[in-house]
Amino acid sequence: MRALLIVDVQNDFCPGGALAVPEGDKVVHVINRILDWFDLVVASKDWHPRDSVHFSKWPPHCVQETHGAEFHPELDTSKVVQVVVKGTGNRDDGYSAYEATNVDLEEYLKSKGIDELFVVGLATDYCVRASALDAVRRGFRTSVVIDAVAAVDILPGDGDAALKEMEQAGVRLVTSDGILCRVPEKGLQSQARNLKDEDRNKSQ
Ligand SMILES: [Zn+2]
Repeated sequence: MRALLIVDVQNDFCPGGALAVPEGDKVVHVINRILDWFDLVVASKDWHPRDSVHFSKWPPHCVQETHGAEFHPELDTSKVVQVVVKGTGNRDDGYSAYEATNVDLEEYLKSKGIDELFVVGLATDYCVRASALDAVRRGFRTSVVIDAVAAVDILPGDGDAALKEMEQAGVRLVTSDGILCRVPEKGLQSQARNLKDEDRNKSQ
C-alpha cells in the first residue's frame, strides 16, 4: 500500500507568503496530477504558535489559524484523509512530518498498511528532507517526487545537496511522469533506460 505525504503546501511558503519558497506554487498542479495514484493521501501543516523559538531562525510564518497557514487554494485536498500538524509547541521547529503532535504519523501509516511513502511539497531542503529521512529511518520504502518539490536555497545548491543526501540515505528520486508510467519502483536512471528500451521496441 502506498501513501502520498504532501508536506507544507501552505500560503506562507508560496510566492507572496511570509517565507516564500521560490516557485513554491509550481508543485501544486504536479501534486494534483498524481493524487489518484495513491491508496492514501496525508498532508502536513507547519502550525506554529505566535511565540516560538523557531521564529528566532525564520521570519514568522504559518501561525496557527492564519491565512498564511492555510493550504494553497489550488491544492486539491479532497483526497487528504489526515492532516498532521507540526511545530505546534513554542520550543520545537517541527521540520519533519513525523514530529506531528496531533497524530503519531508512523503508527498511523502502519495501521493503514502503508509500507511505501512518496513525499512531495515544500521545502526540499528543510521539511521535505527531514520527513523523507525520517520515513527511511522508520522502515518505509520512500521516494521523493523531484518535480513536486521546491527548495528554499538559502545557499545556491542547498536543494540539490538535500536530494543527494536523501538518495544516499536510501530515498529514491522519482518524477511525476515516472509515477504516471507506473514505474516508481525504479530509479531515474533505470527509468531512462527503460524508456529507451521502449522506444527501441516500438521502432522494431
Ligand atoms: Zn516553520
